[in-house]
Amino acid sequence: MSTAVKAPPTTTARDSQSPVLVAMADTFIGGMGHPGSPIRVAASMDETFRRLPSESDRRRLRFIVGVLGRRSGTFLLTGRPVPFHHWSREQRVSVMSAWSISRLAFRRQLFQVFKRLSLLAFLGDTEDDGTNPVWPEIGYPGPVSAPPATPKSIRTTTLDGDTTLSCDAVVIGSGAGGGVVAAELSAAGKDVIVLEEGGYYNEADFNQLELDMMRKLYYQGGFAATSDAAIALIAGGCLGGGTVVNYTTSFRSPDWLREEWANQYGLTAFATDEYTASMDAVYERLGVNAAHNRVSARERVLERGMRRLGWHAAYMPRNVQGCTQDANCGFCGYGCQSGAKQSTLKTYLLDAYRRRARIVVNCKVDQVLIEDGRAVGVRATVRQPEMPAWTLIVRSRAVVAAAGAIGTPALLQRSGLRSPAVGRWLRLHPGIAVLGVFDETLRPWEGSLQAVYSDEWINLDGRYHGVKLESGPMHPAILAHAIPWRDPTQYRRLMRLLPNMSVLAPLVRDHGGGRVTAKDGSARVDYRMGKDDLADIRRGIQAAVQIMEAGGAREIFTGQSAYVAYKPGQRGGIEAFMNEVDRAGYGPGQMGYFSFHQMGSCRMGNDPATSVVGPDHQAHLAKGLFVADGSAFPSASGVNPMITIMAMAHRASRFIAAAC
Ligand SMILES: Cc1cc2nc3c(=O)[nH]c(=O)nc-3n(C[C@H](O)[C@H](O)[C@H](O)COP(=O)(O)OP(=O)(O)OC[C@H]3O[C@@H](n4cnc5c(N)ncnc54)[C@H](O)[C@@H]3O)c2cc1C
Repeated sequence: MSTAVKAPPTTTARDSQSPVLVAMADTFIGGMGHPGSPIRVAASMDETFRRLPSESDRRRLRFIVGVLGRRSGTFLLTGRPVPFHHWSREQRVSVMSAWSISRLAFRRQLFQVFKRLSLLAFLGDTEDDGTNPVWPEIGYPGPVSAPPATPKSIRTTTLDGDTTLSCDAVVIGSGAGGGVVAAELSAAGKDVIVLEEGGYYNEADFNQLELDMMRKLYYQGGFAATSDAAIALIAGGCLGGGTVVNYTTSFRSPDWLREEWANQYGLTAFATDEYTASMDAVYERLGVNAAHNRVSARERVLERGMRRLGWHAAYMPRNVQGCTQDANCGFCGYGCQSGAKQSTLKTYLLDAYRRRARIVVNCKVDQVLIEDGRAVGVRATVRQPEMPAWTLIVRSRAVVAAAGAIGTPALLQRSGLRSPAVGRWLRLHPGIAVLGVFDETLRPWEGSLQAVYSDEWINLDGRYHGVKLESGPMHPAILAHAIPWRDPTQYRRLMRLLPNMSVLAPLVRDHGGGRVTAKDGSARVDYRMGKDDLADIRRGIQAAVQIMEAGGAREIFTGQSAYVAYKPGQRGGIEAFMNEVDRAGYGPGQMGYFSFHQMGSCRMGNDPATSVVGPDHQAHLAKGLFVADGSAFPSASGVNPMITIMAMAHRASRFIAAAC
């Protein structure tokens, strides 16, 4: 069923103030949509600017737009002393196309920023009536069902002025880690307060409109990236964190990982039955099962390829209950309308709430309060809709940082924790998209989010570094990260093929790491891929192409800016194609990377010089401060991390309860 769901417009400004942004939008969409589209897209870009949490990012982007609007600026950037918005579309397209594959990283970076800004808004934003003129052209239905009128089961705590509260434990962040800790501590009889920066949304809010949902449910509205714009950072940013938007794949921590953490990092607890019991408890509470992995058309062609090659192929365990596994399901990355996804909203947070935990949303913790080497609470800012900002102080015996692997290190740095390891060793499981066009209609936005995977290439070095091969739902706006843009005609051709596309996303278990630093109050992420990881990316691309070819694709291309495509049977075969991939490059802006799994930036270990928390999750340098989220991973998990994060948080709760 394809219905035009009435929805609030996702732009607040109706017209952009900036002719440069209108010209930029027009450059990328080049005649798609309708004549008013560039104006609406520019307004939406303006809104994205406005929402960026970092003041200096906002300033930088506005500065660049300002530069492009001046003769002297365009002269410096392009050699043409004419403001960008006075150029013809052909001239603008030609310069953006050149920037996309420029030898200068700075130009590629600018290209990526403007491409994502324009196309995310163009493909994901809507007219006032909730429709988008480009959807019919690309065969995308938009929302397939209206949100049900499900009442909210949690009543959050609201403030009516600056407030001080006290409790046994304050939990910062309500995602995979924070939700579990809140429930377990409440079950142990502790008085718990959960503080979450994002808002509270449930089935009644999940309207299947991409940009609206990204802005409400995702970290930085889905627009976050590493500082060089090379890797899109995709994470949750609402009550329930990543568990509300994630793809429900529920892998246990693999035995090889547990051994690595026990033997290589001296964290013997991971090899014990105690940790196994925590994983079992999480599996039980989430109702993880193997009965909800009906293979979608998008994945059927991939499974066919894996099996024809004789490669490993298996089905994912998932944390869903009573899921109809129909057309609707592919939209669950924007919240599950049927309530089948067992996010923390449906499980652990609800348990905590029912045991009297207080939950405050739209509440950003600015600082952990540390006195005489001991955490004694937090200071936060609460921004409730249509209210002034209030300051909230929470005094507590324990403070649990569970703000995710980007939020937690930034918070601890803002709090003055002098641990040299804070923010280091960030792991991202960097991934890339390999897209295939098939003769059959796949409608790749429909069906189970993920059901099939291959571990054929997970162990390329004997130490479980390699690539995991998975797919994911394909909606147009999120594809702005992946589908190459050379010019509007080429882009239009690719987008019109959307109904026949499938995707494989090789995810690398990264050897090296990046760094998170707190910059003007928000997080800056620096990350460079090392040689070994790039070699694994290459292997992943090759494997994905092999699967697509065996599965019957007629055209296969990578998420590289240069648009590198392979037609099965072409001269030189896959080997010659891989040479083209190499020539197009793997550097920042040359390849469209993304990360759905951030880990390791406040890692656990025994040495305060190289780790932030000890085996009991307590900070080496501040008593009463615990870390219980993906940032505590000693190394990348190699599998989708939710269950490992939750099992660690479950185990951590015992130590936290003892401290408060
Ligand atoms: C689209 C998508 C699909 C995914 N699919 C899967 C999957 O199928 N299987 C799987 O295992 N993993 C998946 N993941 C990854 C998984 O969801 C995350 O790894 C996991 O949720 C991380 O848990 P966390 O507790 O570390 O952080 P999060 O779940 O991200 O929670 C952190 C929370 O802290 C809040 N916060 C941040 N800073 C502050 C602050 N200063 N004050 C207050 N609150 C703050 C954030 O808003 C957020 O809600 C997916 C992720 C995404 C984005």
